[in-house]
Amino acid sequence: MLLYDPAMGVLVNNPDVIITYILIWVVGLAVGSFLNVVIYRLPRGESINRPRSHCPHCKTPLHWYDNIPVISYVFLMGKCRQCHERIAVRYPIVELTNPILWMINYMLFGWSWYTLLISVVTTIFIIIAWIDIDEMLIPDCLNLILLVLSIIAIFVTVPERAHDFAVSKWDHLFGLSIAVVFLTIRMIGLRFSKTEIIGCGDIKLIAVIGLLLGWQLTLLGIMFASFLAVLVELPLRFLKRKAKEDSLPFGPYLIFGFLLSLYYGSQIVHWYLSLIA
Ligand SMILES: [Zn+2]
Repeated sequence: MLLYDPAMGVLVNNPDVIITYILIWVVGLAVGSFLNVVIYRLPRGESINRPRSHCPHCKTPLHWYDNIPVISYVFLMGKCRQCHERIAVRYPIVELTNPILWMINYMLFGWSWYTLLISVVTTIFIIIAWIDIDEMLIPDCLNLILLVLSIIAIFVTVPERAHDFAVSKWDHLFGLSIAVVFLTIRMIGLRFSKTEIIGCGDIKLIAVIGLLLGWQLTLLGIMFASFLAVLVELPLRFLKRKAKEDSLPFGPYLIFGFLLSLYYGSQIVHWYLSLIA
């Protein structure tokens, strides 16, 4: 089977590469399945490992064969075996997103410590995006994990692909200061118009990603996020699906922007710098 080998940059028929992809999908799906549990239980302060996974409608605990990521969903045709209530399609979507992001990480950054670290980051990204959609908040513990990962990242060799332009240690530290700008905007908004322009959780997320990616890629990510938020939210409001005063969860857009920036930001900044140089 021909698969993309990031080390060679071409399609190869190599058993090592095939095993790597299988590993990414098997472990990635298992973790993805666990993410559904985390997304549901973490904001409710429930234990993450107990009780066993159960149907949200009839509370029947799931057999292991009804709990196989994606496969069980397809096999049960999206319905609970006991109560035949529909299972939300977002469960298999969450499960699939994780190995897909892991696979992109591997294809872009190869088999490295950086890839391992970034894969934990992208998994946390999925949790943050969905909890923010559900609850309009980003739990501090998730930002804290990202902070620890960002600090470790300073000592990890970054593959060439991730930084086409030089990002110094200072650029990473300077990335933290972007959050200060948004904190100021938030305070001005609260003081003068009594509106929350940007949430505390979003600002903390910007701070830790600033440290992780450096200020250039972080700014780019926020630009992507804002652009996307306008593009999606404006039609939604226009169609009156949402009331004007409803605040929007900015987290998912930030996550999407940071992912784009992580994967292609370096090339975009490099291209831009070549234009003005
Ligand atoms: Zn059920």
